[in-house]
Amino acid sequence: MAKKLFIKTYGCQMNVYDSGRMADALVPHGYAVTDRADDADLVILNTCHIREKAAEKVYSELGRLQQLRRRRQEAGDDLLIGVAGCVAQAEGAVLLERAPYVDIVVGPQSYHRLPELLHRRARSRNAALDIDFPLESKFDRLPEEMAAAPGVAAFLTVQEGCDKFCTFCVVPYTRGVEASRPAIAILAEARRLVAAGAREITLLGQNVNAYRGAGPDGRNWDLARLIRALAEIDGLQRIRYTTSHPRDLGPELIAAHGEVAKLMPFLHLPVQSGSDRILSAMNRRHSADEYRRTIERLRRARPDIALSSDFIVGFPGESDGDFRATLALVEEIGFAQAFSFKYSPRPGTPAASMRGQVNDRIKTERLAELQALLAQQSDAFQQATVGRTLPVLLERPGRYPGQLVGRTPHLQAVHVAAPDAGPGDLIGVLITASHAHSLAAEPIASAPVVAPDPQQGRAACA
Ligand code: SAM
Ligand code: SF4
Repeated sequence: MAKKLFIKTYGCQMNVYDSGRMADALVPHGYAVTDRADDADLVILNTCHIREKAAEKVYSELGRLQQLRRRRQEAGDDLLIGVAGCVAQAEGAVLLERAPYVDIVVGPQSYHRLPELLHRRARSRNAALDIDFPLESKFDRLPEEMAAAPGVAAFLTVQEGCDKFCTFCVVPYTRGVEASRPAIAILAEARRLVAAGAREITLLGQNVNAYRGAGPDGRNWDLARLIRALAEIDGLQRIRYTTSHPRDLGPELIAAHGEVAKLMPFLHLPVQSGSDRILSAMNRRHSADEYRRTIERLRRARPDIALSSDFIVGFPGESDGDFRATLALVEEIGFAQAFSFKYSPRPGTPAASMRGQVNDRIKTERLAELQALLAQQSDAFQQATVGRTLPVLLERPGRYPGQLVGRTPHLQAVHVAAPDAGPGDLIGVLITASHAHSLAAEPIASAPVVAPDPQQGRAACA
């Protein structure tokens, strides 16, 4: 009988993708995926190290797993515990000192070696640790067969790592240098996803728009070239990409937003701060005005584009004036949604030892003020959608019979009663109401069932 594998994923979409690939690696070795830790033979925590809170959650969960293992052992059974992802990479042997009962520690670049690590663990009293940045690419070693169907909206990692070294960020240390997958491998994986039922693909990378992968024509392709090639795949209806760096958003990619109808009019473009002094201390390599100009160009190319961003408040040295500059930038640009965080010092990063660390009370106050403004903007964006007809890609059944949940081109969740439709259908709907995190809609037979013309309309928050 197959052994049961449970993977708990923390953090970003790249971890969600990686968890799927870990399952792909283990299923041919006698594992079947379960959605319950309680009856698993192997539990893997796929972890995030981006902020202190994210990393600490892992240790609390490990404590619970240790208890679970005790109970299982008392019942004459066993449980293997693995830690993967960025906490595994950053802490390595230290993790094994803090949690010596962990069996396997594997970094984000070596999880294709999981079957081998399990063998190693079975033969030894010691935990198996692999946090190498191996020369071989894991993508060349992972099986093509998927352990589970991808769903209507699938992720596909095209690029990994980061060479930007923002002074607050652990990613260059945990994910290594920038590396792009060859276009041909990405196109093949996209075709497999579509054949298995995916209708939307989000291209992933820590710095996805820095993508420079070998093209089948012998040239290096950028992200715009890759998107144009993907758009030719029959059956693929929507393309998105995340996360982008403002510096790498060049004219080709902006032009693609205006020309490729399958490329959705929604972009997550983290700015972090509206103050040039702080952007420079963060080593972001762009100014607030350069960010504004990029947004203007994007809006010229695709008038209905909606924007999302990341913000950090309380970066070392951030004065009240710097914070006001962030608020001013937000007011001016108008975001459909955004993520905002208190600066969290990360061991080994330059900002952690900078002078002028901001106290937690000020960080909390600034975060509350910024989040109130961002919430106003996202509410206004949601509200402005009411009464519009939009194409919605249905992703899964809703809570009630006949109800389905899908997304607008702007990534808004929509609940619609459409008993004749099913996941994977792209239907026209009339938006009837806006709630905090979703929209309600009714289907309209005559509404468009294709993406709107890139040159029409303007995002509600613009
Ligand atoms: N590559 C993206 C970029 O260039 O903006 C960011 C990827 S990072 C995984 C996601 C977000 O986490 C960042 O945009 C930033 O806002 C936040 N973040 C990263 N390090 C942080 C830290 N030390 N404290 C607080 N937030 C942090
Ligand atoms: Fe981290 Fe993004 Fe900066 Fe790279 S570009 S160091 S991933 S915040």
